[in-house]
Amino acid sequence: MPVYEYQVAEGHDGCETCRDGFQILQSMKDDALTTCPECGAPIRKLIFPVGISTPKTNSELKNLGFTKLVKRDTGVYENVTALNKESRYMEAGKPDTMPHLHKKIGD
Ligand SMILES: [Zn+2]
Repeated sequence: MPVYEYQVAEGHDGCETCRDGFQILQSMKDDALTTCPECGAPIRKLIFPVGISTPKTNSELKNLGFTKLVKRDTGVYENVTALNKESRYMEAGKPDTMPHLHKKIGD
């Protein structure tokens, strides 16, 4: 299982565990942590999983659950990692064209 590193979100004090960051073993299929298991402060993921090189291609990004948007025109972005039910193009001010970010993690 890959190791992920988390740290307390900016603007929060956190505790001894999360203040300087901590690492946790997680399955790729697990949801990302959003709060510190020790103190419950909001946390953010710091880095890509250890042992997995930075994804380069769109399909690698897609397989890892990332969303990549490429600007095509003013306010228009192509979601080059779009999944089946996602809109291929995202337009500013049109929420239904936004990627389904909350559905990405855990796929
Ligand atoms: Zn904490």
